[in-house]
Amino acid sequence: CSDLAMYSAKNEGRNNFQFYSQHLQANIERTTAIEAALRRAIEQNELRLVYQPQVELRSNHITGVEALLRWQHPTLGHISPVEFIPIAEDSGQIIAIGEWVLRTAAKQMKQWLDKGMLLSVIAVNLSALQFRHPNLLFQITKILDEEGLPPHYLELELTERVAMYKPEEAIAIMQTLNKKGIRLSIDDFGTGYSSLSYLKRFPISKLKIDRSFVSHVQEDSDDRAIISTIIDLANNLGLMTIAEGVENEQQLEFLRMQGCNEVQGYFFSPPTTAEEIERMTSWSADV
Ligand code: C2E
Ligand code: MG
Ligand code: MG
Ligand code: MG
Repeated sequence: CSDLAMYSAKNEGRNNFQFYSQHLQANIERTTAIEAALRRAIEQNELRLVYQPQVELRSNHITGVEALLRWQHPTLGHISPVEFIPIAEDSGQIIAIGEWVLRTAAKQMKQWLDKGMLLSVIAVNLSALQFRHPNLLFQITKILDEEGLPPHYLELELTERVAMYKPEEAIAIMQTLNKKGIRLSIDDFGTGYSSLSYLKRFPISKLKIDRSFVSHVQEDSDDRAIISTIIDLANNLGLMTIAEGVENEQQLEFLRMQGCNEVQGYFFSPPTTAEEIERMTSWSADV
């Protein structure tokens, strides 16, 4: 978009250029404001987690949740993680924020399990910088120990891009996490540039089929083909599959027919509060 804006700015003269540079200036100001505000977000209690159910299709039960970060700032209002995570990543603040996310998610999961809720996993998104941080394993181990959560209840979601950057290094990091018993999955699968020879070496347990394929399942036969190919690939590599962004029954039925293991999306529930998750999930007393 910025190249295009620059191109049209150059070609359509001074007014457009001025417009473009004002636009750029506004962006820089917003980024700076967000970065400054983020610095206080944790201590001011502005961050919270919401949880989105992951439904196993074989049993129709909620078997896991994905923790998703929310930020409500007193003057800037609600800011999407799509906007602030990259800023936190550039400024390094993602390390402290990511630690807060892991701590909060582990604490919540431990509470749920102690209450007798039948959940097998809580998934947490990991950014590139967190994943490459030399202290990652130590930090996570410490959190799991302190919260008393056995490692197999935690799943870390890495995007394809993060996993495929310097893949030999990535494999080594994944192996240390995997040896500890922590589960790994590849998020937004199909949108990056996975090398299949590396994919087979990743000690991961799950592929998350990107929402962009799921959303066009009804009208686009290419997207249907891509989904069934991803599911075949996962089956052949011994990996589980979960589809993101399932919004209607037709999408669900297609995924079920293809043998997808789990689904996540607005059709079942948007990301929601811990209390709401407790109302939706089965308890050991129910069965
Ligand atoms: P993601 O990990 O791929 O998360 C899925 C996103 O899709 C979430 O957006 C979720 O609210 C949304 N979603 C779920 N079901 C549906 C659906 O049926 N339809 C549609 N249209 N959307 C659906 P959200 O919460 O805004 O998060 C966006 C991205 O921000 C996440 O994508 C993830 O990459 C990042 N993110 C969120 N929380 C964290 C975090 O704690 N740490 C890091 N590093 N990244 C995070
Ligand atoms: Mg995710
Ligand atoms: Mg995703
Ligand atoms: Mg996605």
